[in-house]
Amino acid sequence: MLKRNTKSKQAVLELFISHQYGIKPDELIAQLPDFDKVTIYRILNSFLEDGIIHKAVSDDGSSYYFICKSCKEVHYHSHYHFKCSKCQKVECIEKEIEIIIPQNYSIENTNLWITGICEKCNKH
Ligand SMILES: [Zn+2]
Ligand SMILES: [Zn+2]
Ligand SMILES: [Zn+2]
Repeated sequence: MLKRNTKSKQAVLELFISHQYGIKPDELIAQLPDFDKVTIYRILNSFLEDGIIHKAVSDDGSSYYFICKSCKEVHYHSHYHFKCSKCQKVECIEKEIEIIIPQNYSIENTNLWITGICEKCNKH
């Protein structure tokens, strides 16, 4: 059981590493037919908790997961997620932005979302 679990975690992690764009749970499930849905969702949740991946919710309510580049245990990033309305790909805009909120407020989570046309699609 433990071995199987490790194998599935490794498979999910490899997909995230090889994928430069955000991945929806449905896509993960479709790309990993050897593992069941429940297992994949469990792995996503544990990766989220461990600071391996982060999540953003699109304007149409879909969740996308992205690999974290510099988080260790605690997530540390505030950047936009950009969805191209032509190719539908979603990417992290790797530029930290300063979020200004009133005094005595503290941020627990951000969901910064942009839609537009990506560089590749703009060139065609
Ligand atoms: Zn993170
Ligand atoms: Zn595009
Ligand atoms: Zn991101």
